Amino acid sequence: MADTWGWEPTAFGIATEAIGIVDGVVALLIYACTVLWVYQSASEARMIPVLWAVIAIFCNVLAIPALLVVRSLIRRKCPECGAYAGRKDRCCPGCGHSFVKRCASCGKDADEHDRFCPGCGASLG
Ligand SMILES: [Zn+2]
Ligand SMILES: [Zn+2]
Repeated sequence: MADTWGWEPTAFGIATEAIGIVDGVVALLIYACTVLWVYQSASEARMIPVLWAVIAIFCNVLAIPALLVVRSLIRRKCPECGAYAGRKDRCCPGCGHSFVKRCASCGKDADEHDRFCPGCGASLG
């Protein structure tokens, strides 16, 4: 009986330790995936992936919202092919899609989503 008594806490201890190892592996996987995802996304958006990988190594999950915010500030996503272009780029570097349209009345460039010309107010249809 003494043996059984002594064995049970040990089994519990082994189980706890195993859960601890699994936890550690899962945490490491999440950590590695985060760094990879941040690197991949930064590289897709042409935003110095190595710098973002370093940020992800130090800040881990915090790098994700940071990357999303910075990306939305300096990049725009092409509606045609999904590539990222600079905010001021006139065309998509991935497929040549034009982000601007020229006003027929005054010749000023307007955003592709503008319904009226920001220069003269003419309808851009
Ligand atoms: Zn494109
Ligand atoms: Zn105009």
